[in-house]
Amino acid sequence: MTVIHLDGVGRTFPADPPVHALRDVHLRVEQGDYLSIVGASGSGKSTLLNTLGLLDRPNTGRYVLDGVETTSLNDRGRTALRGSRIGFVFQAFHLLPHRSTVDNVALAEVYRRTDRKQRVRRAEAALERVGLAHRSAFRPDKLSGGERQRVAIARALLGDPALLLCDEPTGNLDRANTTAVLDLFDELREQGVTLVVITHDEEVSARAARRVRIDDGRLTEERR
Ligand code: ADP
Ligand code: MG
Repeated sequence: MTVIHLDGVGRTFPADPPVHALRDVHLRVEQGDYLSIVGASGSGKSTLLNTLGLLDRPNTGRYVLDGVETTSLNDRGRTALRGSRIGFVFQAFHLLPHRSTVDNVALAEVYRRTDRKQRVRRAEAALERVGLAHRSAFRPDKLSGGERQRVAIARALLGDPALLLCDEPTGNLDRANTTAVLDLFDELREQGVTLVVITHDEEVSARAARRVRIDDGRLTEERR
């Protein structure tokens, strides 16, 4: 099953001269793949992530996500698809300080019409998946940085997304916590989660099964 298929995707920002942030990008990511994307600042990483996350729209080419052609969808269709198929993990954890860990995870579903008990049960299952079931009543300020990021990952997993998109997920973490998050990524991959991780950290990109480099908007797969 192909989760991501980018076919000749280009993204140009109007400026004088225009900025070609993505140029003729071709990429296929299969279910269960673990891909890292590396590149210098300004090379197009965020534009690519925004494109994959349906936060931005290419000017040219096609993007098929989990079997759905996205470039012809309207904003509403894209929002619905994003909500059901994509989990986002960012450098900043974006947890609410005065809510428990389990509430922070359950809040990911607050806009769905599921009842609270079910939401909490699903949040507890997601915390179990990231190895933090024993922290469910804690507030974020009682957790280490690595644990906070694992809570954010649990929140991203809540709707069972086809794709976990991570933008510098270890950017705020020290080495020990980085390793803990990378160990979790390995486990998630074994569970069949598809992972795309944008990073400029060599250790992080080295752990991924595949690595692509972006350079001035052009994507190349690195052979290993
Ligand atoms: P990275 O995340 O690798 O640092 P970006 O994807 O943010 O790179 O940017 C790629 C190029 O596109 C850069 O030259 C940047 O200045 C330009 N760019 C990004 N977003 C915009 C925008 N909204 N308008 C104009 N130029 C942009
Ligand atoms: Mg960026």
